[in-house]
Amino acid sequence: MAVMFDTWHVIHWILLALLVVLYVLSCIRVASRMGAIGKNPALWFLITLFLTFLPALIVLRRRSAAATATGMFSEAERCRHCSEVLTGSDAYADRCPACKMPLHDGDAA
Ligand SMILES: [Zn+2]
Repeated sequence: MAVMFDTWHVIHWILLALLVVLYVLSCIRVASRMGAIGKNPALWFLITLFLTFLPALIVLRRRSAAATATGMFSEAERCRHCSEVLTGSDAYADRCPACKMPLHDGDAA
């Protein structure tokens, strides 16, 4: 399972790198076209880069923040009986420190 995760992790980063390469190539193409009609190619490279990169960065950061706030870790961070927030080592304990109910399936008393 660890090997499978690593394989998908590597594929994910290769695809991301390919997208970044294509993205930079498209910025270079815009810059060369602008240079061909007498505009400053370096300026238009930077304009293209930031006008398209910044909105994507903002969207990705908002999605990441939303996933942290409502996402996959919320069940592990709270007791399902009393909703006590479990911090650090509490999440690995057998019973909730607040209500003493079992935290995991299969170990009900
Ligand atoms: Zn509890």
